[in-house]
Amino acid sequence: MTAADDRPADATRAITAGRRANEGALTVPMWTSAVWESESAAAAAAGATAIRPERFYARHGNPTVGALCSAIAELEHAEDALAVGSGMAALSTVVLGLCSAGDHIVASRHCYAGTTALLAGPARRLGITTTFVDATRPGELAAAVRPGETTLVIVETPSNPLLGLVDLDEVGAITGPFTVVDSTFATPLGQRPLDHGVDIVMHSATKGIAGHNDVTLGVLAAEREIIDALWGFSILHGAVASPFDAMLTLRGLRTLDVRHERQSATALELARRLEAHPAITSVHHPGLESHPRHDLARTQLTRTGGLLSFELADPARWPGMVESLRLIRCATSLGGPETLVCQPSTTTHAALDSDDRAAIGITDGLIRMSVGLEAVDDLWADLIGALA
Ligand SMILES: *Cc1c(COP(=O)(O)O)cnc(C)c1O
Repeated sequence: MTAADDRPADATRAITAGRRANEGALTVPMWTSAVWESESAAAAAAGATAIRPERFYARHGNPTVGALCSAIAELEHAEDALAVGSGMAALSTVVLGLCSAGDHIVASRHCYAGTTALLAGPARRLGITTTFVDATRPGELAAAVRPGETTLVIVETPSNPLLGLVDLDEVGAITGPFTVVDSTFATPLGQRPLDHGVDIVMHSATKGIAGHNDVTLGVLAAEREIIDALWGFSILHGAVASPFDAMLTLRGLRTLDVRHERQSATALELARRLEAHPAITSVHHPGLESHPRHDLARTQLTRTGGLLSFELADPARWPGMVESLRLIRCATSLGGPETLVCQPSTTTHAALDSDDRAAIGITDGLIRMSVGLEAVDDLWADLIGALA
């Protein structure tokens, strides 16, 4: 981590970031106007060619969305940030905005299934090829980079759904291609990829940042020059962030620190208890001593987060488990107040064939859990009841 130490603590910055002079209003107002009038012909002409104007036309920018962008930039220790319509919009803005036909990408094999699908499908169709590697193994990313040909290196850490960790110092040390980290599982309070020399950090703000399962939004943070270039593509790509979602995301950000702290503590406690349960063969969570990169978790993550996954000894018990759960819900998202479970092999990773799933360690017995804000003993009672 860099020495950034005149800055207030993250918990404080999550409260103060993205404030604007709003005539005394404590919250950022939601600007719904799709278009702004110009005071003169010269102002109209200037707006049309401005980079990231907030008061010209909604696809180009919006003051509510702009406030969220400044908050994200501050929390990620970035010069600037861009908000777009979803996490996938953030990813496709990076891939399609920075790569051309003939370019090569190195990506982690352990990623959100949509990321893998974008790279293996539309990107490949457009002549952008990807080499998938096991980025949790030291040196694999750098070894796959082809000088002069590789334009992007994309990793997700902690990864979905096995909570694998990639060494951010290793990603940051790669020179040549732009390096991109999907930091969704960590949230901006769990790790800071840019401090490790990574070029671009992205989040599905749909998850922990907004944090209430009522928003679809993506964010990117980087140097201003990169953000401006990504913005130039995003306004043509058109996956615009809505001001309503930006407002809710800013509100979510205000409580991110306490939510993240509580979710991290509950997830670790449940992970420990699950590890000792006879119906479970293994538990994946970076806070467990049994995690293969537990050492890295201790230095790279400020908190180990609310996600865990576990293997059922008997995968055939999953449907019955879903029926027995009373408090925990079966749903595929994460980072919200409700504790959710899902079976990745039949939901998030259903589009892969079973060999491809096996290659990345996704068995039928694997269950992912996003720990919410309920009391730990209520969650545990629900889990052991359903596992019985
Ligand atoms: C959900 C998710 C995405 C995609 O985000 P959307 O907001 O659903 O488009 C990308 N990466 C990770 C790690 C995710 O969890």
